[in-house]
Amino acid sequence: MRYVSTRGEAAPRGFEDVLLAGLAEDGGLFLPESWPTLTPDEWRSLRGLPYAELSARLIHRFAGEALTLEELRGLTAEAYAGFRHPAVVPLVQLGPNEFALELFHGPTLAFKDVALQLLGRLFDHVLKKRGERITIVGATSGDTGSAAIEACRDREAVDIVILHPEGRTSDVQRRQMTTVPSPNVMNLAIQGSFDDCQDLVKSMFVDAPFRREMRLAAVNSINWARIAAQIPYYAYAALSLGAPDREVAVSVPTGNFGNVLAGWAAKRMGLPIGKFLIGSNRNDILARFLASNDMSAKPVEPSLSPSMDIQVSSNFERLLFELLGRDAGATARQMKDFRASGRMPVPDAAWREAAKHFTGFTLDDAGTLAEIQRLHRETGYLADPHTAVATAAARALMPESRIPVIIAATAHPAKFPDAVQRATGIRPPLPPALADLHERPERFTVLPNDLGEVEAQVRAHARRNTADA
Ligand SMILES: *Cc1c(COP(=O)(O)O)cnc(C)c1O
Repeated sequence: MRYVSTRGEAAPRGFEDVLLAGLAEDGGLFLPESWPTLTPDEWRSLRGLPYAELSARLIHRFAGEALTLEELRGLTAEAYAGFRHPAVVPLVQLGPNEFALELFHGPTLAFKDVALQLLGRLFDHVLKKRGERITIVGATSGDTGSAAIEACRDREAVDIVILHPEGRTSDVQRRQMTTVPSPNVMNLAIQGSFDDCQDLVKSMFVDAPFRREMRLAAVNSINWARIAAQIPYYAYAALSLGAPDREVAVSVPTGNFGNVLAGWAAKRMGLPIGKFLIGSNRNDILARFLASNDMSAKPVEPSLSPSMDIQVSSNFERLLFELLGRDAGATARQMKDFRASGRMPVPDAAWREAAKHFTGFTLDDAGTLAEIQRLHRETGYLADPHTAVATAAARALMPESRIPVIIAATAHPAKFPDAVQRATGIRPPLPPALADLHERPERFTVLPNDLGEVEAQVRAHARRNTADA
């Protein structure tokens, strides 16, 4: 399996290189040269498998010669052994044809653990084989950081530096990152927005000498291996609910577009996913795009669902590349225009194609609280604010659906206890492993939104890498 860049200027690479590189040298994102597809019989044969096994078999389709199925089985078994539910990603029925796919039973209570617990092990496996080390650099609006740190803490071959927007993550999210005492972990609090953090990370990757010197790697959702690791849970849910013999729909609370892109990849692999509902808070660029081809960035506004406080959804570029018929030149031009002007008029045919598969939905904070309250009153279910945007989308856009709607439940309610308490009067407790989080000492460095200062900190932290460079 070879991977191509959405901007067409980087040479095609194999799975290992794509895993370690994250972003392509031309600033584009990697996608498989062609999509692996499964026949209906092949899909049926995967029904009922334990999650780790299902996951190994599907990811193997993307890993090609880089990893044997046996090696992948070992890694997925380890990655998912620590989840708090034996099904790993259980389905919980909320209504006649509404199912929450609970993706938050990993160590940091959010869906990113599903991919990152595997990614940390993939990095270690590949680096050991090569006798190399890397520095992982990432930006987070909340969950990616803690999930990445949990995946990489104490690993021999890895240093990790995570940038978060100062004061814009929840208390629990920040503490999950800053209370990890491992010497290979560094947290930088940037005086700016999440998009600023993401731009700093992108700039570090585009700075070729710095990137080589530090051996930078990414764990943000731009890393293809992360997308690949999110495909199996869509397959698990769809197969459990009757696919490939029955169509399903999916509702996803969306920020960087990584989670929904993985669902779309599952569709490209042959699963009958009819419609994708894309939930946004008031940072609604994707909803505006889908409704009226208005892709224009506005300032990021804080909301009750901070992991969706994003205006530039980095993974959208992968969809754009596909919508433009895999024309890398056109994709590169569109992305450069967007970066320069903050606007991107997508060609009409491409926009119509997008609107065929995806429907946007926006919910403000008051609506989110009302939805958490309604769900609890009617079903007893406690949803976090991100999940609630997706349940509301399913209600609004597919009421009385005849096909099962899979709702991505992306965070444990205890990760956002203030919102849940405001809506329901109930303060969901943290699971026992995190109960003393608020007593643990924190460690982080505050920095201005300045590339030079950030690079200096990364250089100081990644000394093991520079020492043997
Ligand atoms: C990251 C995150 C999202 C958004 O996922 P994307 O892949 O960025 O679209 C939604 N909800 C929660 C709880 C998250 O942590």
